[in-house]
Amino acid sequence: MRDDSFILNPLFARPSETSPPPSQRLPEEPMLPETAYQIVHDEAMLDGNARLNLATFVTTWMDERANLLYSEALDKNIVDKDEYPQTAAIEERCWRMLAALWQAPDPAQALGCSTTGSSEACMLGGLALKRRWQEARRAQGKAADRPNLVMSSATQVCWEKFCNYFDVEPRSVSISEEHKVLDGAVLSNGRSLVDYLDENTIGVVAIMGVTYTGMYEPVAKIAAVLDDFQVRTGLDIPIHVDGASGAMVAPFLQPELVWDFRIPRVQSINTSGHKYGLVYPGVGWVVWREARSLPQSLIFNVSYLGGDMPTFALNFSRPGAQILLQYYNFLRFGFKGYQAIQKATSEVARYLAAGVGALEPFELWNAAEDIPVFAWQLAGGVERSWTLYDLSDRLRMQGWQIPAYPLPADLQEITVQRIVVRAGLSRDLADRLLDDIKKQVAWLERNGHEVEQPEVQRFHH
Ligand SMILES: *Cc1c(COP(=O)(O)O)cnc(C)c1O
Repeated sequence: MRDDSFILNPLFARPSETSPPPSQRLPEEPMLPETAYQIVHDEAMLDGNARLNLATFVTTWMDERANLLYSEALDKNIVDKDEYPQTAAIEERCWRMLAALWQAPDPAQALGCSTTGSSEACMLGGLALKRRWQEARRAQGKAADRPNLVMSSATQVCWEKFCNYFDVEPRSVSISEEHKVLDGAVLSNGRSLVDYLDENTIGVVAIMGVTYTGMYEPVAKIAAVLDDFQVRTGLDIPIHVDGASGAMVAPFLQPELVWDFRIPRVQSINTSGHKYGLVYPGVGWVVWREARSLPQSLIFNVSYLGGDMPTFALNFSRPGAQILLQYYNFLRFGFKGYQAIQKATSEVARYLAAGVGALEPFELWNAAEDIPVFAWQLAGGVERSWTLYDLSDRLRMQGWQIPAYPLPADLQEITVQRIVVRAGLSRDLADRLLDDIKKQVAWLERNGHEVEQPEVQRFHH
């Protein structure tokens, strides 16, 4: 076993702390809080600078009052609705606000809950689709053991997890250069969305803000294909909208775009409060258009914390603080505040996309028209001695985290690089970033990637 002890600075260790604590085993003896703090603090310092991380969608900055509220609320457990009835009431107000924002026909009839993030929210949305389908099938005396879920090949990994964990067959409609998102059109292989549907289809997932590129899937077009399918087959297939990022962008930036509960087929919508909901990591939301969309058989009534609380969740205990922070943001920003922030973020993203697109080696995949996210690839027709992985490495040396990765199935040969713009990336910082990109591209053009560069661990396909 390797020597895994910390070396404590002798001036800084206390007299009682004579032997260095191990890092991989539980230390035998306690240590003073100051010492433990210093060890953890120093090591965490080696993490990247979150503000320069343009890979993640997740909020890394909130204002001082939010921080104060967070520190006041860090002991609250959201599952304990008897102990913390006000936090529970606030949770409900939050999802009702979302139901209204997403144009539920009657927000008073909607149902919703908070989750740890969109992953859990998608699991709940998927489970509701599956159970509703099973109950309907069983009521007709039909087999209900081979459910499938139809989605684009560019879904976030949580949908693969859902299908794997809950025994649902995933059916992926491949995206292509002509059809960059699931759009219901006939594909080059001659197949179209309807060819993936049958009586065992529990639903179709439409993504508002594809993780790979930031593009919206046209929910209304997908719904029209399903309407037509219903007329021909009698099969009524619901839609779940994965709005992890876009459900907190589209209502503010593209209010005329119809993607939400205005489409009757949309039964449920999720979002990540910690993405463009602008809350620190740890909160997501899922809302069902009406009680009917969420089968009663999935709801547990828990009495052992006192009271009798209906819950639908994968987790039990979970921090309640993020829910207060979400409510804080809703009150603090209101519709116009969110609109102003998302607009500013979007302008920076479009500015950056224009800057990157203007550089000779690059071709934009999209230009941040939807959520403030865009991706690009290397322009074809030129032999180059470097790749976007090299550029990603070189930018990392400047502190920027801008990942390069292959597109999903059937487009894996295309490598893209993606920038996620979050509130807090100012136009000035964007200019510095563009300068750095230009500088590193020039360096790579001169040196290629063999020079001075150790082989890095890469995704091979
Ligand atoms: C980020 C993302 C998720 C997962 O969300 P978490 O909040 O990180 O769990 C799911 N779907 C899409 C489209 C996403 O962008």
